[in-house]
Amino acid sequence: MSQSPPMSLVNVVAANVSDDDSAVNANQRLRAPIGKVVCVGRNYVAHAHELGNEVPTAPMLFMKPASSVVSIGQGVIRPNPEMVGETHYETELCVQLSADLSAATIEEVQQAIGGVTLGLDLTLRDLQSELKEKGHPWERAKCFDGACVLADWLDPQAFGDFSDVAYQLYINDALKQDGDTALMLFPVYELLVNISHAFSLQAGDVIMTGTPSGVGVLHAGDQLKLKLGEHEWQAQVQ
Ligand code: ZN
Repeated sequence: MSQSPPMSLVNVVAANVSDDDSAVNANQRLRAPIGKVVCVGRNYVAHAHELGNEVPTAPMLFMKPASSVVSIGQGVIRPNPEMVGETHYETELCVQLSADLSAATIEEVQQAIGGVTLGLDLTLRDLQSELKEKGHPWERAKCFDGACVLADWLDPQAFGDFSDVAYQLYINDALKQDGDTALMLFPVYELLVNISHAFSLQAGDVIMTGTPSGVGVLHAGDQLKLKLGEHEWQAQVQ
């Protein structure tokens, strides 16, 4: 398996083959490489229930390192299941910051979102279950190289206040995840305000806003299609 270098924003932008103006504009607004990827667990009730988890009363946060980020154009790499068990897909709306945020207000958050796209929060589910049982952190299950797959950045202005953004994942043409931000426990702006009070966010940081229900196992050769409005990306599982 060839090892990809940590993905900088420049690489992500280079992978964008679309000549879509809104994508180009958003990319111009993004000035920094990815520092960290902040992820939100259980932000959709139906997903919390499908994994037998309690619904949180505050956003449940974890992180992925920049070294885990790959562009969807590089394909989706599934770690060897004989070594690490099953890899699950989690399709999530992702935003990237174009400004720093510390103890931010809603207005500051609105100004700081520089790009929007879809991502896959790949998770070694068997390993994660084992770690959860022991009360250990999840990094081994969530931070491996390729564990954060990002599609191309789009202009955030096309998404309004993010309160009703629909997105889908199809695998081999079957609909597997049908997300709508209207169903989030903690909507995008509120989420970023909350995170920025827990720790500082910096320009370039990416926030994965949580997965809707329908998560499941990736198999070698699976053909993935991610849809966000009129935008669509495809990738094959390696
Ligand atoms: Zn997730």
